[in-house]
Amino acid sequence: MNKKGILIVVSGFSGAGKGTLMKELLQKYEEKYALSISATTRQPREGELHGREYFFISKNEFEKMIAKDELIEYARYVENYYGTPRSYVEQKLDEGKDVILEIEIQGALKVKEKFPDTLLLFVAPPSAQELKHRLVGRGTETMEVINSRMSRAAEEAEGMENYDYLIINDTLEECVEQMHSVIQAEHLRCSRN
Ligand code: 5GP
Repeated sequence: MNKKGILIVVSGFSGAGKGTLMKELLQKYEEKYALSISATTRQPREGELHGREYFFISKNEFEKMIAKDELIEYARYVENYYGTPRSYVEQKLDEGKDVILEIEIQGALKVKEKFPDTLLLFVAPPSAQELKHRLVGRGTETMEVINSRMSRAAEEAEGMENYDYLIINDTLEECVEQMHSVIQAEHLRCSRN
């Protein structure tokens, strides 16, 4: 029988480069990892596709998913709802894949509470200045939204201590390898218990 995969949460400030990092990790180790696709009530950014980056749904649909207990966790983040659909995550874990949830900190703590073996990773940019530079450079948000996201980042910095590892996203390649190594080490630790 397949060994069950482990649940991995990756959080980090908006603009820390998590999206690119996840894409690279999944491409490089396709057979090992699956990325959960969240549901959200926020509007798609240019280039984002329904069912690829997110399931873009209405507030009403989101509330129905909550009522039917179809989400492992959900949170409000800067005026929108975000949540993790349960069925895909369970299916991939059963197939023996490690499932990565790229979610913010409130959701991360809820997942850890429900599934204590979850590995919590926090990705940070090299500096706050670099963070703002990346957010502005992305060119997808207004200054108002960027400022809300910077304030939220400052709040989230306080919750970092609940995470198992802090990974600094300086160069992409190095960061991908660090994440992969940490996850593999976690597998060894789990098999010992
Ligand atoms: P963005 O709007 O930049 O795509 O995401 C905003 C924040 O929501 C990010 O910190 C992202 O990790 C988080 N997020 C995305 N999906 C989920 C989810 O399913 N649950 C929770 N709790 N946070 C999520």
